[in-house]
Amino acid sequence: MKVIYMDNNATTKVAPEVVEEMTPYLSEFYGNPSSMHTFGGQVGRKIRQARERVAGLLGALPEEIVFTSCGTESDNTAIKGVLSAAKNRRKIITTRVEHPAVLSTCRDLEHHGYTVAELAVDKNGRLDLNELQDALDDDTAVVSIMYANNETGTVFDIDQISSMAKSKGIVFHTDAVQAVGKIPLNLSQSSIDLLSISGHKLHAPKGVGVLYVRKGTRFSPFMLGGHQESGRRGGTENVASIIALGKACELAAASIEEENDRIRRLRDKLEKAICATCPDAMINGDIEHRLPNTLNVSFEYIEGESILLLLDKFGICASSGSACTSGSLEPSHVLRAMGVPFTAAHGSIRFSLSRYSTEEEVDFVAEKMPPIVNKLRQLSPFVET
Ligand code: PLP
Repeated sequence: MKVIYMDNNATTKVAPEVVEEMTPYLSEFYGNPSSMHTFGGQVGRKIRQARERVAGLLGALPEEIVFTSCGTESDNTAIKGVLSAAKNRRKIITTRVEHPAVLSTCRDLEHHGYTVAELAVDKNGRLDLNELQDALDDDTAVVSIMYANNETGTVFDIDQISSMAKSKGIVFHTDAVQAVGKIPLNLSQSSIDLLSISGHKLHAPKGVGVLYVRKGTRFSPFMLGGHQESGRRGGTENVASIIALGKACELAAASIEEENDRIRRLRDKLEKAICATCPDAMINGDIEHRLPNTLNVSFEYIEGESILLLLDKFGICASSGSACTSGSLEPSHVLRAMGVPFTAAHGSIRFSLSRYSTEEEVDFVAEKMPPIVNKLRQLSPFVET
């Protein structure tokens, strides 16, 4: 059965060009990039090229790129690294809709005596910037607010938010794991101090990430060890994956504008078809400010998991907005923070497209959805038939 992969916010296919670029560094060129010999030195040069490619996509300087093991490590490093450098400030500002990589880190720090302000969002997942302004005070060490939400695709106004933090002399971090490679960024013209990336969200392999650290940012390393990454992240480099991420960034930079338009058109087509054919479908997120690839839709009175199981029978891969906690299905913290009614949050599905998504796939999913929704509604104890 053909797989129709619409779960690209969970992970992406490694691009064939990326596989080709990284493969020799798993077999032929196995030297340590820190070695003095020529054999290792050529690997070091390739890592420098990867650093330049990542910097190129971000509009950053190569020396501002620190390779890590994943987006989660980058988020942890950013927040803890700033706190340990800013000894006299004890407060973190974040939002209720962050990925657990940020939210769990902040909540854990709260148990260690730090103060955490979690900003609320409205029903469309938007922040109230007055609430942020009120929260910025002399005790705040770091503001960590995601660029784009992984569940709904809502994109925050990070230019404005980072400027607000900067005007108060507060370090600003953004988890841009879902944004990089999907929407253009230019860090040379922003007030972002730290930014997290994950390789597997932009067609590189799992197990590699980046933390961008603006030159001059007060920051202590999280992973102590050797002098790798200019002393900012110890540990022998994951060479092949770093090279892969560099290539993935180069590919994204070359096609981001046209792919954006194409993917948005496909996503909008799917959204329109679902809304036209499935009664009581409701789009979650900020329709005006959304990643072009993400569609989060709720169907009242049915469970997202049941939809996923029926889609799976046709080879269609998507995600639901619930997580299994202690044997029961808990609606996502993001949809709950947005105040999405319980009955709709339970029935939410996320489709996330990529540059490999096709119009035929969208048409196929659009055709399969109405009978699935109708069938589940007929079985639902909450719907009168
Ligand atoms: N932040 C966001 C917004 C994400 O969507 C994810 C992964 O889903 C992460 C962080 C974690 O990235 P990684 O899987 O590389 O640790």
